[in-house]
Amino acid sequence: MEKSYTYVKSGEPNIRKSWDHYFMELAHLAASRSTCSRAHVGAIVVNREHRIVATGYNGSVGKKTPHCDEIGHAMRDGHCIATQHAELNCISYCAKEGIAMGGASIYVTHFPCLHCTKALIQSGITSIYYDEAYRVDDFALHLLEINGIECIQISLEERRG
Ligand SMILES: [Zn+2]
Ligand SMILES: [Zn+2]
Repeated sequence: MEKSYTYVKSGEPNIRKSWDHYFMELAHLAASRSTCSRAHVGAIVVNREHRIVATGYNGSVGKKTPHCDEIGHAMRDGHCIATQHAELNCISYCAKEGIAMGGASIYVTHFPCLHCTKALIQSGITSIYYDEAYRVDDFALHLLEINGIECIQISLEERRG
């Protein structure tokens, strides 16, 4: 049978985005859904097959709690206590839906706080990729190191500049 197709290479080389940049850009897109203007943080959980299993951003908990952008921030000791962080929202979603996080990676727009770092270690995550080195906690780094969890900065800013 005669072929109905021919292979033709296009003149321009195809510039393909790396997985790391692709997921980090998606983390920034997730951050654009944040309801707390004090920090727009986004996170994407990716399994070993490069499939997204959860997305999260920082915002109020539950379906009935008003958001910071509606009623203002619940301030205590200089921090907004109303929201749950993006990373914990990913973990909570996986718990709710029965999605395994063991061996997965997380892409976060900001370096995780100590509390989220502990929860990520316990979730079975093996790699953390972050963009902004925001308030990097040396104890969080220490915990990641002893537990053999990769922690790599993927700076989109540097890439643009
Ligand atoms: Zn807030
Ligand atoms: Zn956190």
